[in-house]
Amino acid sequence: MASAPRIAVGGILTECNDFGGVPIDLEAFERFELRRGDEVLGARSGVMGGMLDALSGRGATAAPLLFGSTSPGGPVTTECYEALRRELLDRLRAVGPVDGVLLALHGAAVAETVDDVEGDLLERVRGLVGPEVRVVATLDLHAHVTGEMVRFADGLLGWETYPHVDTYTTGRRGADLLLDAVSGSVRPCMALAKVPVLTGAVNGSTEGDGPFATLMRRAKALEARPGVLSTSMFLVNPFLDRPGMGSGGLVITDGDPDTARREAAALAAEYWERRHDLEPEMSSPRDAVRAGLGIEGGPVLLLETADACGGGAAGDGVACVAALIELAPDAPSMAPVVDPDAAAACHAAGAGAPVDLRLGHRVDPRWGEPVEISGVVETLGAGRFAYRGGIWEGTVGEMGPTAVVRAGGLRILVSTHPTYEWQGEQFESVGLDADGAKFVVVKNPMNYRIAYPGARAAIVVDSPGPTPASCRALPYVRMARPFFPFDDDIKGLQPEVFASSE
Ligand SMILES: [Zn+2]
Repeated sequence: MASAPRIAVGGILTECNDFGGVPIDLEAFERFELRRGDEVLGARSGVMGGMLDALSGRGATAAPLLFGSTSPGGPVTTECYEALRRELLDRLRAVGPVDGVLLALHGAAVAETVDDVEGDLLERVRGLVGPEVRVVATLDLHAHVTGEMVRFADGLLGWETYPHVDTYTTGRRGADLLLDAVSGSVRPCMALAKVPVLTGAVNGSTEGDGPFATLMRRAKALEARPGVLSTSMFLVNPFLDRPGMGSGGLVITDGDPDTARREAAALAAEYWERRHDLEPEMSSPRDAVRAGLGIEGGPVLLLETADACGGGAAGDGVACVAALIELAPDAPSMAPVVDPDAAAACHAAGAGAPVDLRLGHRVDPRWGEPVEISGVVETLGAGRFAYRGGIWEGTVGEMGPTAVVRAGGLRILVSTHPTYEWQGEQFESVGLDADGAKFVVVKNPMNYRIAYPGARAAIVVDSPGPTPASCRALPYVRMARPFFPFDDDIKGLQPEVFASSE
């Protein structure tokens, strides 16, 4: 190519939950990250930072579109998705002819009226730029990758790590693959293979020797082979309820469809073999507190994974709070609860004031009853904090008006908005220190590992909620049986394969 390639960049990055949580609206993106036009070029970290650095490093020109990301929640509202999509496509039209399109997506976003946001977006982008312009997208490894996404993209690349510490480098990898394809030095040929396995994320770490770590290493080893351009492993976000969900592998080769198909199918078959290892061991909240009391020192982490804001839950569960009040009322403990009404009541009462609260399950009442708390408002705040590292390095998260309420030994961080948990930034921002705590209630299945490396123990709690450690508790309607964990054996099962048409 004679002149510098011109690459349109943009994306919509969020993850959805069909069983609970607060619907994602435009305000949720505005509160988190919504960059329009040239503002996209200001991204310095995360996936977009990696894309931009790689493009400029190779002399390509970025034509910025729109990039929005936000903490997971219920399905994106129709109004919000249509507004973001319209603006992204309008900007793509307005930037004129490009040599390639590079999109930072999640893969497990749905809208109220769209089952497959990323497939829809890729189809429309493809419709605008035509079949000759190369289109590459990056995805979360929890993506619900569909045949449409494979059909309308030239390349799809997932994060390689969980916890997700490689978003920047995956952004770079996506840009490199796209530029190689644009220059004609490679001809990406993609195959996705899935098996119907839906599991929670507790055993999904890519570190150590767990089942998903082993699968990921097996997939990544293929990249050393000549002609293999990229491999991804996907542990599908199991908190969607859409047709055709599954987990497996995606392989991109240089013009070799047979190898792509064969290796992707082999990865998916291996995934099926490891399905039982991905299921968690769990304790009831009360058993978890009792077990923690039997452990010397702290902190003991109570993993209330069913209420993970990072999986789209409302964060308003109180199962562990109730168990702590009943069984360990004086133990120094800390717990997060999203409850806008309680946060407002605390702000009205003022710092130092006693409060009686009915706390929890007021945002998403489907999953439990509030708990009665008599305590004292210790501190009040505006709820802003900055993420350190990961997907949102440097991005300001907004919990909205917050309060720390003390009841016996328990300090509860009451916030207004749900926010993705990463390294304990929320607790730190209100002065709560896990080091002095006996119990810390953690509402994520994985990132606690980087947030609390010194924890004495981490106990997975079996509580009601839309993001449980095992999917057995979820009332799927649209995801058709048979699938694991409901169906342990499926006669004649073969991985489902979707391949690019080349
Ligand atoms: Zn993820």
